[in-house]
Amino acid sequence: MAERRRDGRDAGEGARGARTREVADAWGELVATARRTVADGLVVGTSGNVSVRVGDTVLVTPTGVPYDRLTPDDVVGVDLDGRQTLGSLRPTSELPMHLAVYRATGTLAVVHTHAAHATAVSTLVTELPLIHYMAGALGGPVRVAPYATYGTPELAENVLRALTDRTACLLRNHGTLAHGGSLDQAYDRTAQVEWMSRVWLLASSVPGLSPALLSREQLAEAGQRLRGYGQPGPDADGGSGP
Ligand code: 13P
Ligand code: ZN
Repeated sequence: MAERRRDGRDAGEGARGARTREVADAWGELVATARRTVADGLVVGTSGNVSVRVGDTVLVTPTGVPYDRLTPDDVVGVDLDGRQTLGSLRPTSELPMHLAVYRATGTLAVVHTHAAHATAVSTLVTELPLIHYMAGALGGPVRVAPYATYGTPELAENVLRALTDRTACLLRNHGTLAHGGSLDQAYDRTAQVEWMSRVWLLASSVPGLSPALLSREQLAEAGQRLRGYGQPGPDADGGSGP
């Protein structure tokens, strides 16, 4: 039997209360991140989706619901096998992709967008050319996952392959996916991918000139240095970079 505390509740109740608060806080951050993708122009309407892991529960945006309409009561949660454990709204159609990333990487947050420059690049190349050293903060050159219909296990598989040793990839004729240890980190990585895509498109569009690219060695050196970037301390993730 659970130990009684002075406030009359047992230890199990206390732990459940803490988990409920953790879920509510994580849902608030998830909704804020989803809204940010729209505000920053990385998606239009209900495109894209966001998820965050709390213990064995993955909170996800519901499919087809404008992010500005989401309230604290709309929380949607599934277990790692995709069984819905929280809420009644249907989870994002990209659930197979999000869950595949959690199962394969042990990451804590995933952001998927239809960012315009990254999506444009996904139609032109199979890997984002090494236009900037920030690719080193994502594990190396950003790959493009081959096209598959949205929401399918096939797309999830293609994305997993493109993510090998990387924290972000492009989805051909579709968009971006990035993951990280927090929603902020996954979001920042998404923004870096979009920014690098934009720089490459800009530099490539000057008639008669083509951009200088970094070598794999130069990128590896920057990647190594980025691991020590920023302030020391518990919040340093060493991965997002300048
Ligand atoms: P959902 O509204 O189902 O999350 O779908 C948006 C999307 O980006 C599909 O790839
Ligand atoms: Zn999408």
